[in-house]
Amino acid sequence: MFSGKTEELVRRVKRAQYGRQKVQVFKPRIDNRYSQDHVQSHDANRVLSISVDSAREILNLVEDNTRVVGIDEAQFFDEAIVEVANKLAYRGIRVIVAGLDMDFRGLPFGPMPKLLSIAENVTKLSAVCVQCGNPASRSQRVMGGEHVVAVGAKEMYEARCRFCHEPSTIHVTPPGLTKANENDSDSRPAVREN
Ligand code: ZN
Repeated sequence: MFSGKTEELVRRVKRAQYGRQKVQVFKPRIDNRYSQDHVQSHDANRVLSISVDSAREILNLVEDNTRVVGIDEAQFFDEAIVEVANKLAYRGIRVIVAGLDMDFRGLPFGPMPKLLSIAENVTKLSAVCVQCGNPASRSQRVMGGEHVVAVGAKEMYEARCRFCHEPSTIHVTPPGLTKANENDSDSRPAVREN
């Protein structure tokens, strides 16, 4: 989540816009920590986006003259995002998807494995491991101070490499959540770029 995915999405979208191509960007509605109508990287570079509740909604919202569709935080979408991306691509639309490939346990994240499979091109970005400085591919869930219920706060995660990552370090039980549905919140860690 510290690898600059959104920056890269914004960069590609802006290039298409400079080329006078109509671009539409979509993101799942769950992420409203920043503006609801923009995809924003931490350097405040941003592009207009549309928040949707489900992947299929995207199909209805893509306009006839749209040449490029950007999708941010794809790991939070339902499985239908795979079919949606395929349908758009068959229409001749360039589909640029940004997402986190692994969750904080180091497991494939939501629909990302299938999206990676059907993509013509895949760019894997890495962050820097805060423990050893090597390229980091994983998100370590860490707890700090009062941030006990802060699901969605980037302070709860840090970039780690394969060797420094501790997938078993799961110690968040927000008040009111039982052990059973703790996993539900765990499957939606913060991935907002920073
Ligand atoms: Zn490391």
